[in-house]
Amino acid sequence: MGRIPYWNINLGILIDAFAVPMIVIFVYGMYGHWKRIRQGKVRINPDLSKSAGKIGPVYIYALLTKGILGTRIYKKIYTGVAHGGLFWGMVILLLGTILVFLNVLFGLPVFRGGFNRWFMSFALDLAGIAVICGILFFLFRRLVFPPERLTEPKARTGFSPIVLLLGVVILTGFVVEGGRIACNGIDNGSFIGNYLSMMFGKTDAWLTVHRYMWWIHGLLALGFLAYIPYSPLVHLVLVPVNAALADPMPGTKMGLIDFSSFEDEESEEMPVLGAATLADFSQKRLLDYSTCLWCGRCHEVCPAAQTGKPLSPKGVIITLAESLQDGHVEDDSLIDSLTSEALFCCTTCAACMEACPALINQPKTIMKFRQNLVMERSEIPEMMGKANSSLELRGHPFFGTGAGPRDWCKDLNVPVFEEGKTEYLLWIGCSVTYEERAQQIAGSMVKILSHAGTSFGILEDFRCTGDPAKQMGNEFLFAELAQQNIEDFSDMGIKKIITMCPHCYNSFTRHYPKLGGNYQVIPHSLFLKSLLKAGRLRLNRESKTICYHDPCYLGRRNAIYDEPRDVVNSMGKLVEMARNRNESFCCGGGGGNYWAEEVGTRINQVRAKEALDTGADFIATSCPFCLLMLTDGAKKFTEDQKIFDIAELVALQLEER
Ligand code: SF4
Ligand code: SF4
Repeated sequence: MGRIPYWNINLGILIDAFAVPMIVIFVYGMYGHWKRIRQGKVRINPDLSKSAGKIGPVYIYALLTKGILGTRIYKKIYTGVAHGGLFWGMVILLLGTILVFLNVLFGLPVFRGGFNRWFMSFALDLAGIAVICGILFFLFRRLVFPPERLTEPKARTGFSPIVLLLGVVILTGFVVEGGRIACNGIDNGSFIGNYLSMMFGKTDAWLTVHRYMWWIHGLLALGFLAYIPYSPLVHLVLVPVNAALADPMPGTKMGLIDFSSFEDEESEEMPVLGAATLADFSQKRLLDYSTCLWCGRCHEVCPAAQTGKPLSPKGVIITLAESLQDGHVEDDSLIDSLTSEALFCCTTCAACMEACPALINQPKTIMKFRQNLVMERSEIPEMMGKANSSLELRGHPFFGTGAGPRDWCKDLNVPVFEEGKTEYLLWIGCSVTYEERAQQIAGSMVKILSHAGTSFGILEDFRCTGDPAKQMGNEFLFAELAQQNIEDFSDMGIKKIITMCPHCYNSFTRHYPKLGGNYQVIPHSLFLKSLLKAGRLRLNRESKTICYHDPCYLGRRNAIYDEPRDVVNSMGKLVEMARNRNESFCCGGGGGNYWAEEVGTRINQVRAKEALDTGADFIATSCPFCLLMLTDGAKKFTEDQKIFDIAELVALQLEER
């Protein structure tokens, strides 16, 4: 006998009426989230409005891939598959339920032929099984063997009731199906229903059981839907929204502060520098906090959290989420509860952002707090404070350095940039200028560029881009230094820049244009690749193995992974560390931590050990800060000099020709 909807049920249509209050409860719950998020500031980045693939504020590609397909979830394969089973099972079951309603209301012929067999019976049974497997996996994982990332610094409660409720909905659904088949005969395709019906056997009692179970199943399913906004499963709605609104460019972009608004004497409200309370954040950030899954993937990849520092990106986000939930929007003790010690541990490596399945921007939140600590309260760790003072007084963050700014070029014939004659400015940057070991990168680049016949020159006076100030939270100082550089560049007619430091590259490309400085900027790794490709450099390729460490500001922040590897491959055999490319581990020097006194295990030693453990003959990188940090870290394990910038290795191969 064909399937008859609402078979054995009196007044089954009443279930539609019950759906109405449940939908109201659902909408009211979502409205609560909306109201909380609306307490943030409205900030619209005009630069992003012209992006391709965007409709209004919605990034379609990110919505479909990261938001709906949840592609990042699958980076952990078991969790990903369980999540996929749970989510897609629910989607298919919801679709099946909608089709039943359409059949009842409009006679849509869904219970006929192949469609009934393969979708309405087989696929829905399979979906139910997938959901049950997902539920068991997550209950076991959360309650029996939770990994550290779920419990540190705090585990989320509230998952079990809704997940168990969902399990009961599915199981009662199977019983209803089995009872129906036990009374009406085999339903081709419904493998679970057929199996249960055989177990049940045909008795009249099943008519009653089926009727009661039908109502229990229907009402619980509606209750489950209404419960979603009040439970952790609200992420079903919030993650796609957060993904759709998240800037898809890699890395964190800290916008510029409009300091002119501080001079507006008519304004009654004093603008806040950075953020001290939840109300200082944008609505998008408050959406971030509401969306957090407490999954701890950020905690697990954070170099600070993993080496015993007081910072956990998950800890920061969930503290904010709880404050928002509790309505403490104006409470400026929030920043104290997070502690400045923790906030300054962040190396701004963006590993947390890259790992987060909910597309949350943790570093931006941390940086906003830092800005407030530095610019409003003058609270900064001692060594970072010294670097800041040096930047203010001398235009670079290095203090107590023995290296003179011209030491590196005294034996070299280095041309000075001349307007109208020189094509590229070889931007030296502060670490390459003032740190003896990093100076060798500049020497190597000069040799390479001269060898390749590139028209280049350097500046006579050296100054920092201001990136360390920005990373430490001193936006005001960054803006000042950047303005001075932009003025100098404009006076000298500089249009093309080669950088050796990814921090300089990042500043020039992401922040300078907002201050009016627009240049064609190329990192040295890309320039070396282009010289090799054009045949202007030829290297002796050796059988040596070279391990490449991805600098965070080149890789995760600017998605430059292949070109440095191509350069490495042209000199020797590339070997990879387990954590590489966008999953690379920071050297520990970012976010101004080059100048910090580290607590806990030293990040540079962890990373240097990983690199040394590959057994590679050389370890290459393409950032002077990474070079300095890894060189220092490797000293604990070897006396050999193994860490080099790729420019140094290229220059070495040139010399051996
Ligand atoms: S940016 Fe890096 S150091 Fe900072 S919280 Fe994220 S993972 Fe940790
Ligand atoms: S911020 Fe992202 S990665 Fe971290 S716990 Fe929340 S959802 Fe997970």
